[in-house]
Amino acid sequence: MNRSTSEQLYQEALQHIVGGVNSPSRSFKAVGGGAPVFMNRASGSKFWDEDGNEYIDYLAAYGPIITGHAHPHITAAITKAAENGILYGTPTQLEIKLAKMLKDAIPSMDKVRFVNSGTEAVMTTIRVARAYTKRSKIVKFAGCYHGHSDLVLVAAGSGPSTLGIPDSAGVPKSIAQEVITVPFNDLDSLRIALETFGEDVAAVMVEPIVGNFGMVMPEPGFLEGLCKLAHDNGSLVIYDEVITAFRFHYGSTQTYAGLSNHEAIMPDLTALGKIIGGGLPIGAYGGRKHVMEQVAPLGPAYQAGTMAGNPASISAGIACLEVLSAEGVYDEMERLAIRLADGLQESADRNGILLTINRIRGAFSTHFCNHKITNYDEAQDTDGEQFASFFRHMLNRGINLAPSKYEAWFLTTAHTDADIDATLEAAEASFRAMTA
Ligand code: PLP
Repeated sequence: MNRSTSEQLYQEALQHIVGGVNSPSRSFKAVGGGAPVFMNRASGSKFWDEDGNEYIDYLAAYGPIITGHAHPHITAAITKAAENGILYGTPTQLEIKLAKMLKDAIPSMDKVRFVNSGTEAVMTTIRVARAYTKRSKIVKFAGCYHGHSDLVLVAAGSGPSTLGIPDSAGVPKSIAQEVITVPFNDLDSLRIALETFGEDVAAVMVEPIVGNFGMVMPEPGFLEGLCKLAHDNGSLVIYDEVITAFRFHYGSTQTYAGLSNHEAIMPDLTALGKIIGGGLPIGAYGGRKHVMEQVAPLGPAYQAGTMAGNPASISAGIACLEVLSAEGVYDEMERLAIRLADGLQESADRNGILLTINRIRGAFSTHFCNHKITNYDEAQDTDGEQFASFFRHMLNRGINLAPSKYEAWFLTTAHTDADIDATLEAAEASFRAMTA
């Protein structure tokens, strides 16, 4: 496959844009380096690059594009919004409509506030939790990604009773000292952390279903235990559902049919993003009324945004949720995901390649290993070089995956059986080439 134009554009981009990319996850650093593919156009399940090569896309822009690229209902909504003026700086009726749609689908959200990204949404839930509890520390789980604000770019210390160390230059040690990191699916470590830091802990924050070190389900009882331990300690529970809300069903983890005991897994605050903007920039956070009343103009916790609630993002979000609310869309994404994941597993087995697939309805992750993936350590202990090789073989056969062994494959409402057939053919050829 000739990608010489992408290579030229990458050299040009390097002259002007730091690292040639506007988000580090788009670089190919984790898969051996070189030029990322410069895409020119997208429609449905497909991408075309600057050299005219066609790809089937499973990146879905890291999640938001759940209805496929350029979905006509979303495009029409954005066009209408653009014609009516793209930014007002005043409230609009549209914001009420999307807020109601979120509240109807996510029972713990009595009140909502729109922001511009998942990072902002998470960052503000932390501020609100701190304002409400008048405490400062946060417990988070290793490998969960919560955006790029200072407080959540902190890695684990050496155990549940130690404080974090900065994961990024530019994050002061004093900020990392406010964060305790414990392993996902490990209630004992959470218990020790809460016993150690007790009344200093404002909130326990979690991706309740993980999307950032593969797709990982909470083990039975984990979320119930987490909520109980946090609440017994007087701490709030924050769910980061930037990836997971509206991903597996029309709602969030707290009402996901794959988990029981929904009352016992209700968070106090939830952060949203990605899907709820239909592909335009958005974030939202919300939660129980008495907690959300901390937020300005009602309360002392300040948060604001020039672009927040802009009519284009809100219109795209409404249109996206309208598409997702139709009967059967999630079942169909799951049907295709089962075909694809099962086919990949069979193909890997046939070629003697060790592969573990974690699938949750229409999304899954591929781990080159022969053990289960239930936490970050297990996800790290997989063969990155083999993933890189698979990634490149698939790309050369027209399959666009995320360039990282930790990221998910996302099915969309635009994928078809023909896409799955073509992807399985590419995978068989890739596995064969990897073992040749
Ligand atoms: N939270 C989770 C779970 C995410 O996966 C992400 C982004 O991938 C974020 C927060 C940050 O969202 P954004 O990139 O919109 O700032």
